[in-house]
Amino acid sequence: MTDSLLNDSAGVSGLTCALELAKQKGNTVTVVAKHMPGDYDIEYTSPWAGANVLPMALSDNSRWERRTWPVLRRLAAEVPEAGLHVQTARVLRRKKDVAKGFKAVLADGLFMLDPWYKELMDNFRELPASELPEGMHSGCEFTSVCINTAIYLPWLVGQCARHGVRFKRAVLKHISEAANMSHTGRKADIIINASGLLACRLGGVMDKTVHPARGQIVVVRNEAKSIMPTSSGCDDGDDEIMYVMQRALGGGTVLGGTYTKDNWDPNPDPNIAVRIMKRAVEAHPELTDGKGIEALSIIRHGVGLRPVREGGVRIEKELIDGTWVVHNYGHAGWGYQGSYGCAERVVELVDEIVGRSKRTSKL
Ligand code: FAD
Repeated sequence: MTDSLLNDSAGVSGLTCALELAKQKGNTVTVVAKHMPGDYDIEYTSPWAGANVLPMALSDNSRWERRTWPVLRRLAAEVPEAGLHVQTARVLRRKKDVAKGFKAVLADGLFMLDPWYKELMDNFRELPASELPEGMHSGCEFTSVCINTAIYLPWLVGQCARHGVRFKRAVLKHISEAANMSHTGRKADIIINASGLLACRLGGVMDKTVHPARGQIVVVRNEAKSIMPTSSGCDDGDDEIMYVMQRALGGGTVLGGTYTKDNWDPNPDPNIAVRIMKRAVEAHPELTDGKGIEALSIIRHGVGLRPVREGGVRIEKELIDGTWVVHNYGHAGWGYQGSYGCAERVVELVDEIVGRSKRTSKL
């Protein structure tokens, strides 16, 4: 039996699902999306991400990140055209944040003392006191990757095409409309809903627990010298954060950022931009060889909206208007680093719906 699957999105979540589903024998996949790689739009989160791997889950909900890391590590090592490269993550815990019990806006698990991910990430080490900047309680380093999303998303499209996935542009008012959009001409058996932030507006879903967390960034030409620093907080406000990551293949260095809930403003704020650059250069003077923010060479300013869902990501099946829908949305600030783990669960749910026996995972 051939299952016709309709994937209603082309962000990192939808494309990864489309690829993993298309690799399975018997599936025919059509991707329908309002936005595609190459577009920059405030409703389309994936192009704005850094993106790197900084584990954020707590141990008991870490499946998505645990299952994704080996895939991203392999792509960085073996598939240079995918646009990932290996970098060293440096996670710093400030004394004042440890003292108040870590109210970091960005991550639950990233800054924890003795983190679960020390077993997962290669070359994990706690930093000795001699390597800690002033004001830091502690910190750790581990091998991670940075993804050039401008290369990686089109690469995913290419991989999907290679596995027979077909693409269509359309704006869905209601999730059920997708059932009639399969390129096979037949009604789709299953719809995958990976609509990201727009899950809050999509008919049939209308998930009002999905909110934006606005992330402003500055992309510069300066190099970060293979280190990706981030800290548990900063003195510029509770919704401002500090991170630096250099993208692979000439993608520039992303300086961040902010994490402002329920703010849909697509316009970069110049005052925030200055604070972002100051924090980055202060934390990582190597960026400008100690010459301050005037020596930053700006490529562009940007804003993306992380799709945050109260209660966490939604990955489950639901019968809507007589067609099975498998939801995969609400990935907040970890959509890349959880992408393959979530797609693996989507494949399992599709298998449950069509009654196939458990497949051996290819991840
Ligand atoms: P999206 O990328 O928004 O894609 C949604 C898709 O659904 C689009 O194709 C859209 O057109 C389509 N769609 C929606 N509604 C409809 C409709 N009605 N009809 C047709 N199509 C529709 N993650 C990491 O893992 N690491 C990082 O370092 C990282 N850094 C980040 C930094 C910033 C500044 C931001 C903003 C995010 C960051 N993230 C990071 C988070 C990550 O970008 C998101 O979790 C991820 O991109 C969400 O992808 P998605 O596919 O679910 O949604």
